[in-house]
Amino acid sequence: GETPVEDAVPQAGDPGLVLLRRVGVVDPASLDDYRAAGGYTALRRAFDLGPAGVIREVLESGLVGRGGAAFPTGRKWDAAARQPDHPHYLVCNADESEPGTFKDRVVLEGDPYALVEAMTIAAYATGCAKGYLYVRGEYPRAVARLQHAIATARSRGLLGDDILGKGLSFDIELRRGAGAYICGEETAIFNSIEGHRGEPRSKPPFPVEKGLFGKPTVVNNVETLVNVLPILERGAQAYAAAEPKLFCVSGAVERPGVYELTFGATLRELLDLAGTTGTTRAVLLGGAAGAFVTDLDIPLTFQGTRDAGATLGSGVVLVLDDTVDLKRLLLRIAEFFRDESCGQCVPCRVGTVRQEEALHRLSRRVDDSDLVLLREVGQTMRDASICGLGQTAWNAVESAIDRLGVFNR
Ligand code: NAD
Ligand code: SF4
Repeated sequence: GETPVEDAVPQAGDPGLVLLRRVGVVDPASLDDYRAAGGYTALRRAFDLGPAGVIREVLESGLVGRGGAAFPTGRKWDAAARQPDHPHYLVCNADESEPGTFKDRVVLEGDPYALVEAMTIAAYATGCAKGYLYVRGEYPRAVARLQHAIATARSRGLLGDDILGKGLSFDIELRRGAGAYICGEETAIFNSIEGHRGEPRSKPPFPVEKGLFGKPTVVNNVETLVNVLPILERGAQAYAAAEPKLFCVSGAVERPGVYELTFGATLRELLDLAGTTGTTRAVLLGGAAGAFVTDLDIPLTFQGTRDAGATLGSGVVLVLDDTVDLKRLLLRIAEFFRDESCGQCVPCRVGTVRQEEALHRLSRRVDDSDLVLLREVGQTMRDASICGLGQTAWNAVESAIDRLGVFNR
């Protein structure tokens, strides 16, 4: 009953696509198809540039992380590459779990060799002999296709010892998550891989210094990694002139799915492509950890959405029409965070429970003291939680109160 990957990409086959160019077009099982469609030219270019040259290109491209936090990828790679402690590890975060996020899934299912090639380049640049691919357990088709791609690449000399006869040793181990949202937090992934409870660690130290098994570790999201292919194929400047970004469009639209646009397109342009149904009341940007906006002329960039008091996050664009029951939606979001809190720190463990309780009371009767309580609890979670889950658990509720007047009397 799962949606075939090509149906999740309304633009499939469009010759202007960069990141999604092969999705729904090539056979994801075929390494020969992948190579015929440009696969492995980026790795060859990487070998020509050398590790430092690859990092220079990634720095110059301006690429920032696509998991949601937008940290400069080149800086992360450079910091890891310089660490004297060895071994270095590479972790690809494919534990895509933010509600409304499904962009990585279409890449994993539709173009799995792209991720294998991109991880190999990242490992070469940063000196990692081993990579872990941590995939959401609820993505069985992605897991099967990635396992096939990894085994095929290994059998053809593209993983393992002496890759392409260039002396590079690198291999990938796939690990499946077991259903916890928090295991997508980068340090919770380390604990999960090491066999411990999936609880986040305090940062700093950052993973580049002390990550998996206490060693320098590069953690990148799937979409971040596959961007490295066009950066090397086209060169940093050409890439930066038309930088691609994936968006996950769902809700009150005619054609939901993953869209690729160039940074800077507005929310309205994206919604025109997807075709809204009914009267758009608001858009939730950035997922459950994001915020509601009503201005459709926001430029879809990390800065543009920040300026609008929202976040681009992992590219979630959830469209709400005027029939939506906002109070129920907020309760669902609050329930999600309460359920997924790992319970390690008090502000989040207790705050997510109190937030849900107050929303239950408010959905029956609006009382000012509950609104004050919500704000205090929300601010405490934001300021004092260990990780992003607790820090963002109040964002959507706050924006619904302040911008959509959900509890106005
Ligand atoms: P963060 O800002 O703490 O870190 C971002 C990245 O930069 C991390 O890899 C971190 O290790 C690195 N970093 C930060 N400062 C550094 C430094 N000084 N030196 C070296 N590396 C440094 O954010 P986070 O807690 O990792 O992620 C939160 C984000 O995750 C949110 O924006 C949210 O949108 C997103 N998110 C995404 C999903 C999804 O399914 N894709 C799910 C939940 C949350
Ligand atoms: Fe766990 Fe929440 Fe604390 Fe994160 S903020 S460590 S999810 S209790």
